Order: sequence, then structure tokens, then C-alpha cells
Amino acid sequence: MTSPAQLLESSGAIREGHFVLDSGLHSTRYFQAVDLLADKAVSDALFDAVAEQWVDRDIGIVLGANEAGSVMAWSIAGRLGAEPRFARKSSDGYRLFGGAGVPPMPVLVVDDITTTGGTAKHLLHVVRSHGATPVGVSVLATKGLFEIDLGVETHVLVTLDGMDAHNPEQCPGCEAGVPIS
Ligand SMILES: [Zn+2]
Repeated sequence: MTSPAQLLESSGAIREGHFVLDSGLHSTRYFQAVDLLADKAVSDALFDAVAEQWVDRDIGIVLGANEAGSVMAWSIAGRLGAEPRFARKSSDGYRLFGGAGVPPMPVLVVDDITTTGGTAKHLLHVVRSHGATPVGVSVLATKGLFEIDLGVETHVLVTLDGMDAHNPEQCPGCEAGVPIS
């Protein structure tokens, strides 16, 4: 059977170039989650594996952010018999998007890829600010560069190999004058 790591690495979602990450760090490799979603068979298999981590946990709400995180929340909520919610980046972190609130049910936060866990931290704050309780976080992939400590149960499906993240002052892409992709 193909492992989640093999599925993800063969999906064509990992690109080479010079990228600015949400965390403000730069990298020469980038995981474009939307390309992963475009391969439905692969993303379905990965979402099945994520949902399996949380069955029988009475998850009522699954919250994700931005394009890929929202698709992930919708897909995993369907597998868990839960309702999806969506968040969006705003000037002061993340906000719930749309009119549906977060009822006081167990909430699962999902994210596609993370470098430092920053988006998940913001989403945990969104959950708590609505008076709900986050049960945990599931991330499709991390870059294996930083310890991700979110203070709640956290599952990472795949730890990618060979990913990088640099302060802009020490970025090989910047040093070589490579334009931002
Ligand atoms: Zn750079």
C-alpha cells in the first residue's frame, strides 16, 4: 500500500523556487496544497487517513482556513459527520468567515501544511474566542524543521523531507538574487 508520505511526495504539489511563507520565512521548496487537492484520488486517501485519527471522538465542528484548509475542513467534516467552518486571514490574525458561528461542540482544527504551526495557533484562538473547545489539531504535513507545540492533541500525517525555511537575511534565494516565485 502507498504510504501517505509517498502519496504526498508524488502528487506534484512540491515546487522548487524562491518563496515567502506565511510565517515570513523564505524557502526554496514549497508545498502547493491546491495542486494536491486537484488530484482527488490522492487527496481523498489523505483525508481518509486524517479522519481516521479522530473517529469516535464526537467531533462536532471542523475548522480550516484559506483555500486548501477550507477544502480540507469540508472534506474531513463530511467523513466525521461534523459541520465544517472556515476562517480567513485578517489584519489581526484569523477570523471566522461567514455567518455560522461555532457552537459549543468539540472542535477539530485542520491545516494543510505548516512550518511553525502559526495558522493552527490562530485557529485555536478563533475556536476559544467563540466559547468552544478545541479537541485537537490535524496537519496534513509539516516540514520537520520546528517542533510544533500547540498545547492540544496534534496529529501530523506526513513529515516532509528536504524542506527548508530561512530568515530573509540568511536566505540562499535572496543571496543569489532569485526572484520570488
Ligand atoms: Zn529569500
